[in-house]
Amino acid sequence: MRPEILNPLFAQTDTLDGIGPKLMKPLEKLGLTRLRDALYHLPERFVTRRVIESLDDAGEGEQVIIALTPTEHRAPYNPGRGPYRVLAQDSIGNICALTFFGRASYGAKKQLPVGEKRWIAGRLDRYGDMLQIVHPDHIEKEGAETMGQLCEPVYRLSDGLTQARIVSLASQALERVPNLPEWVEPTQLEKEGWPSWSDALSLVHKGDNAAACDRLAYDELLANALALKLVRADNRRRKGHALIGDGGLRAKLELPFPLTGAQARSVSEIEGDMTQESPMLRLLQGDVGAGKTVVALKAMLIANEAGKQAALLAPTEILARQHYATLREMAAPTGVEVAILTGRDKGKARESILMGLLDGSIDIVVGTHSIFQDTVSYKDLGLVVIDEQHRFGVAQRLQLASKGKRSPHTLAMTATPIPRSLTLAQYGEMDVSRLDELPPGRQAIDTRVVPQERMDDVVAGVARHIESGQQAYWVCPMVREMDGAWQQNDIAAAEARYAALKERFGDAVTMVHGQLDPKIKDANMQAFASGKVKLLVATTVIEVGVDVPASTLMVIEQAERFGLAQLHQLRGRVGRGSEKSVCLLLRGAELSETGRKRLALMRETQDGFRIAEEDLALRGGGELLGTRQSGDEAFQIADLDQITRFLPVADADARLLMDRDGGLTSKRGEAARMLLYLFERDWGVQLLRGG
Ligand code: ADP
Ligand code: MG
Repeated sequence: MRPEILNPLFAQTDTLDGIGPKLMKPLEKLGLTRLRDALYHLPERFVTRRVIESLDDAGEGEQVIIALTPTEHRAPYNPGRGPYRVLAQDSIGNICALTFFGRASYGAKKQLPVGEKRWIAGRLDRYGDMLQIVHPDHIEKEGAETMGQLCEPVYRLSDGLTQARIVSLASQALERVPNLPEWVEPTQLEKEGWPSWSDALSLVHKGDNAAACDRLAYDELLANALALKLVRADNRRRKGHALIGDGGLRAKLELPFPLTGAQARSVSEIEGDMTQESPMLRLLQGDVGAGKTVVALKAMLIANEAGKQAALLAPTEILARQHYATLREMAAPTGVEVAILTGRDKGKARESILMGLLDGSIDIVVGTHSIFQDTVSYKDLGLVVIDEQHRFGVAQRLQLASKGKRSPHTLAMTATPIPRSLTLAQYGEMDVSRLDELPPGRQAIDTRVVPQERMDDVVAGVARHIESGQQAYWVCPMVREMDGAWQQNDIAAAEARYAALKERFGDAVTMVHGQLDPKIKDANMQAFASGKVKLLVATTVIEVGVDVPASTLMVIEQAERFGLAQLHQLRGRVGRGSEKSVCLLLRGAELSETGRKRLALMRETQDGFRIAEEDLALRGGGELLGTRQSGDEAFQIADLDQITRFLPVADADARLLMDRDGGLTSKRGEAARMLLYLFERDWGVQLLRGG
């Protein structure tokens, strides 16, 4: 429950004027389902437009407002494919095109009747030998001339939304902003010259205002720091199980290799934590292929030796099944009972697993988040291992912790190497073990950058590879060409690529992506993992953890569209066996300077920690932390530059607040609670109530 004063901000956006059910989908796509989201959907930039009399008065690339009279509508030959164009004339007879893609063309038909003058605002650019305005920002019957010179926000959109809609959404949300008590330390406000929270919000929607932006970013960093400290404080208060393993089960393992130094060290750090009564909160950070699984298994066996159960939580169904297979095989000589439970296990099979967890006959369970639903009870859960923890909210982690009277130990594992300067932000309050040494005998992956135009050669190479009996991945940036995504028409979509490769390779190729029926996806994955199918076309669903050692070729199409960290993860799918592996990074024709540097870095090194550091440097201060659409970024508002400048201060401030008022009951503590709600760190507040 949120404090009443905040409730209006969490109302659904469809309670606003002009927002009907039709807009809900496009709004959802942008993550704008509540007023709070609209407030924090900040403009990407601002434009200032000039009113011009005729097209002669402006050049390409200029933002203008001009009166134009439509003369002709040109629908695409192939509806839904090409753009819809309206030719229009200025006051002295120059013609330009107004161009619409996707669904936007329906509106254009109505808004631009032939022969009627309209005020058009937008950016002039060239289309062949004609000027054009693509998706005008405004089409008005009258009055638009008064908007000239005004500074106007430009928001990120999704298909079906207009700038005007978002502007209206933001301004209605701003009208409902309540007066909240200040949570930022007064000296900090004064030192930086920051406005109050509500002023900062209206300022950032109206124009470039560095102080207001910084303040909102600081808010977010403070909320995050505070929430992490609340978790840690709660963790210290909790009682866990002091688990002493006698080594009996671990001694029965018949591993085909000795542990690396880093693995052995990590196991002993974990074992040390587990012998303590306060629950472990540890992160195991290790590059792809560093061998985290066996470390996790040892930790789970320690729990079993001490008579407790252990659970391993995987981010996807595919990974859960893979972990299950690996762990079952590795653990076989120990005789412990390993089971799997996912959302897809139903009926009798599910019942029997649930029984086993309750009566303690199952020692280790692997699954997706369904292993922590309310309907699942454990006899005595001693350890939770979370694989790829960045995909899970901390909230879920806590939900786990609160099962049972005593909290289980938590071991989170991630293959995302995080730059040192960001570890604090993401894992601030966890202890960290690093696997900074790869198992011996790994061969370097031969990485090459190949222009997309050489597709025929690439396909021929894949054919040779498959004929020699090996397997290959082929990764595309998306599932299918997005409806109306006119800027991205050249994108390589998995479905189209699959169709093309199918003609060449027939049944030797299959496909997995997030929009496939889960059963089909699994079956396809299984066919590939078993070696029946040789080539797997995929999107980034294979990014995390998939382990098919016989697959030794990775093709990544339009590699420049992926982040460095993602490329690194993807490449890590190969080079897992003893065979030499190759990674081909196909690049599009237009490559930015940064894009070029990134691909060059990939060719140069395989060290994940180095890639992470350089990624940070390449992205520079202005750009945001990763691509936001992936949805697992730590911060929505704060950019890298702001993180660097303000995170240490926010962290210190949060610590001070906790030291003075750990229950958040003072006036400023109350304000800080509001902040936690605003940034959806509700779980932080819940911890205060001991729940
Ligand atoms: P990740 O850290 O990416 O989860 P895995 O646990 O999947 O890595 O291990 C990658 C591969 O390395 C597996 O095939 C595993 O059996 C192997 N492996 C793990 N530890 C060692 C080791 N110490 N020596 C040799 N091979 C190892
Ligand atoms: Mg793994």
